[in-house]
Amino acid sequence: MEIRTRFAPSPTGYMHIGNLRTALYEYLIAKSQGGKFILRIEDTDQGRLVEGATDIIYNTLKMTGLHHDEGPDVGGEFGPYIQSERMGMYMDYAKELVEKGEAYYCFCTKERLEALKENNGEGAAFAKYDRHCFHLTKEEVQEKLNAGEPFVIRQKMPEEGTTTFQDMVYGEITVENKELDDQILMKADGFPTYNFANVVDDHLMKITHVVRGSEYLSSTPKYNLLYQAFGWDAPVYVHLPAVMRDAHHKLSKRHGDKSFEDLVREGFLVEAIVNYIALLGWSPSDNTEIFTLQELEEKFDIAGLSKSPAIFDIKKLTWMNGEYMKAMEFEKFYALAEPKLREALGETQLDGKKIAVLLQKRLETLNDIPALVAFFKELPVYGTELYTHKKMKTDDAIALTSLKAAIPVLQELAEWSETTIHDSLIALVGEMGIKNGQLLWPVRTALSGEPTSPGGAIELADILGKEETLRRLEKGIALLSN
Ligand code: GLU
Repeated sequence: MEIRTRFAPSPTGYMHIGNLRTALYEYLIAKSQGGKFILRIEDTDQGRLVEGATDIIYNTLKMTGLHHDEGPDVGGEFGPYIQSERMGMYMDYAKELVEKGEAYYCFCTKERLEALKENNGEGAAFAKYDRHCFHLTKEEVQEKLNAGEPFVIRQKMPEEGTTTFQDMVYGEITVENKELDDQILMKADGFPTYNFANVVDDHLMKITHVVRGSEYLSSTPKYNLLYQAFGWDAPVYVHLPAVMRDAHHKLSKRHGDKSFEDLVREGFLVEAIVNYIALLGWSPSDNTEIFTLQELEEKFDIAGLSKSPAIFDIKKLTWMNGEYMKAMEFEKFYALAEPKLREALGETQLDGKKIAVLLQKRLETLNDIPALVAFFKELPVYGTELYTHKKMKTDDAIALTSLKAAIPVLQELAEWSETTIHDSLIALVGEMGIKNGQLLWPVRTALSGEPTSPGGAIELADILGKEETLRRLEKGIALLSN
């Protein structure tokens, strides 16, 4: 049997990390078994519609490489793939259930339902429908329908016994049928409820594995009973624990947690984000952490999913992002870094490539670039305390001597390159009978004005050029002489 999974997002205007993880796992479950990954847009909650929101879904799938085999934009045999375009399909299925005695028309007014809630003695939180309309005769129902009375169609839950289903993550789940409300399948406006539509859609689209957030666990017995009522095979259920901000709070965009687009905007690489979220609830059989999407497709298995909530740790993602940057081919890194680098360097004629080489091993996200390279453009105001470094065995006095000695040596160089700068400075260290750090640390400090910098004295001097190097060394001397 071909594995078919679906990503069924509601277009909310952004891609929540939890949703992207669901999409990724759906994709991986399908692809790891040679199956199909389907996109279905669930846009029937008109109140939540946001313009351009569907494009965000398409773009995210495209950027992350989660290519869908069927969907609104790529077509397929089981369309339409936009739920609002399927609205005509559900009434007949609901009527089929009425015929079978698995569902019934309900004509109760809002007022009656409100009164029920108030009178049940348990408060509005538990308001099971009292089956008033289930007891109408066929004739009574027909009469009301003929008279054009508004109606909903409700699912008839079994009165006794239990319903059990297997979840691939949470294991066996059993509920008492008497706890289940006769939920509405078709609303008075003729549209299906989400709970009904998703079952019909999943069946018609031949979905074999339904993967979704654990908030749907409690509805699943009802879905299962619907499959049974129709005589359809229920899918395999894979419920995923929430992605958390900390031990007690779910990630939530409303509370300021970042969406996928936010992370991309903040300079995270798409590959690193995908890799990181793959591990938010799934662990490979070995302890590998870095995976390309293709490797994930090969390695992924449902058995590695965990039901303990995963905490989204931005520090871990940041670390992983840095690993991706380091491992990247230089040209690819340069292409990514160049726009930010150019912007940060402004009008200067500095060699961006040379700077990028220094940056690649030090960056955690692309957004670190401006702060890391600002000193190339303009020497910051700094204090002489930067010249004191225990490990380098330098202090103000040593630094002053070293800078004074470095200037004539560098001035003399006819050719300005890393090699000539290196050789002349190392020769000077020898002549002065000091340690490398006692010359190179002061030079590095004078050239950057920063406590740390991408690159040491030699690389910085090479990139800044002779004139600027000498100017900055003079400035250091002036500062130290004060
Ligand atoms: N549209 C639902 C959501 O975004 C999908 C739930 C499901 O996967 O069935 O939460």
